[in-house]
Amino acid sequence: MSSKPYILLLSFFICQLKLIAQNLPYAKGICKMLCSDEFSGRGYVNDGDALAAQFIRTQMKEIGLKPMADNYFQKFGFEVVCYPERVQLNVDGNDLFPGKDFIINPGCTGINGTFSTIKIDSALLDNTSQYNLLFSAKTRNCFLVVDQVKELKLLHPERINAILTNQVHAKGLLYCKKEKLTWGVAQHFADFPIVSILKPVLQNQPLVIDLKVDAEFKLHQTQNILGKITGKKYPDSVIVVSAHYDHLGMMGSFAKFPGANDNASGVAMMLDLAKHFSKKGSDYTLLFVAFAAEEAGLLGSLYYTENPIVPLQQIKLLLNLDLMSTGDKGMMVVNGTEFPDLFEQLKFQNSIGSYLPSIQARGKSANSDHYYFSEKGVQALFFYLMGEYHAYHDVEDDYEALTFSKYNESFELIADFIASF
Ligand SMILES: [Zn+2]
Repeated sequence: MSSKPYILLLSFFICQLKLIAQNLPYAKGICKMLCSDEFSGRGYVNDGDALAAQFIRTQMKEIGLKPMADNYFQKFGFEVVCYPERVQLNVDGNDLFPGKDFIINPGCTGINGTFSTIKIDSALLDNTSQYNLLFSAKTRNCFLVVDQVKELKLLHPERINAILTNQVHAKGLLYCKKEKLTWGVAQHFADFPIVSILKPVLQNQPLVIDLKVDAEFKLHQTQNILGKITGKKYPDSVIVVSAHYDHLGMMGSFAKFPGANDNASGVAMMLDLAKHFSKKGSDYTLLFVAFAAEEAGLLGSLYYTENPIVPLQQIKLLLNLDLMSTGDKGMMVVNGTEFPDLFEQLKFQNSIGSYLPSIQARGKSANSDHYYFSEKGVQALFFYLMGEYHAYHDVEDDYEALTFSKYNESFELIADFIASF
């Protein structure tokens, strides 16, 4: 008798076990909640990040993670510019949708008025007398409309640079953007307002714009959230799993940046891993950290490395999860080339589990919360999944857009990798 039926039976049971390990409905529920209106894009208006922090703490409590720091919270403050009220733009009598049709520059100062425009094109930049006229007082109450920046940079590098840095002292700049609009968080006011408009929205060269922006600069209090599972064999040696929970918040009272892939998805997987290991147990202590203020410049993880709750020397490894909702094109490991043994160990786990189509390595990059840890000598890897997902730092990065196409596989891979130490 062939051993095939037994092998089939065995693999069936292994598959069943695998299906039990991760919990996609739970992760989806977490993502949906974190992207909801209640949390206002987990930024700096309507207490968005504070409410999200309370929600994550409640999840950690329910999972049974032991509180770290001050009842799970490591508090700190930082300066930030935010937009709690009006961000409105009307072009030649037409109201545009904030976030969809236009964005302001992060750190845009408050402004309220009606302004005429001056079109900056190659003909104007070619003509020295016309170009010099831009430096007259007339320009001071105008917005300069700049289209095809790349082309202008090639043809007139010095003059376009003077325009883009607003050496002509215009009221502000108006960019026509062919592709997507991308926003961010600023800690200081910018020197002048910049409005980016999607090109298809602008039928004609705009003549008059009406712009209202209420901007607020504040010292904002926030918190990292930390909970742990004590290791059975090596309680003093710690594997950290981290994911930032903040996002960009709101650009005015209408445009919400939900931050689904970035990074509700990473928080959901981190909590799901916490759930998994709270049942299964771990040889090493596992510390789960939801970092704050990543989008404002990795501020939560920087604060931790300067004020560690678990000393950095006790951290055996840090795995940072950010952008975890796809995976059709595999996973990227930032710092993979810095820590080749860890990378090989991860690839081995992937090959025996046949989880993701590819695992790739990159070098150092200050692009998420692993960065200050590895700069201070901690072995730290940053995982992000790759696939067909184009929303990023925009209003489209919402729960409905998530596919979770390789959620189960990437969860299993990371869980196996953690258990392999
Ligand atoms: Zn992120």
